[in-house]
Amino acid sequence: MINKEKERQTRIKWKKKNRGKITLQDREYRRRNKEKVSSWSKNWKKNNHDATIAHQALHRAIDYGLIQRPDACSKCGASDVLIDGHHEDYSKPLDVEWLCTSCHRLLHAA
Ligand SMILES: [Zn+2]
Ligand SMILES: [Zn+2]
Repeated sequence: MINKEKERQTRIKWKKKNRGKITLQDREYRRRNKEKVSSWSKNWKKNNHDATIAHQALHRAIDYGLIQRPDACSKCGASDVLIDGHHEDYSKPLDVEWLCTSCHRLLHAA
């Protein structure tokens, strides 16, 4: 917990320090790569939209008691941690693998 808070503070500091720089670079980059950026953001929006819908459906199912969120990670068995539902396929919103945050992060990093 303490580490996480530290991490967050460092990130905020870094952002503050680099704010001007980032936006300038970013703007310049966007100006030069208009097409590319717009197709990325379209894709991102589409993916993100599917993910949002899937998460909403999943949470509704949990609220209604259709699905139970387990209290342990299905990969490493960690309990006492936050368990996330990982979607293999966003078109099957209720088809999830329950993972702790670290297993979930690893899966997405792979
Ligand atoms: Zn795990
Ligand atoms: Zn996931």
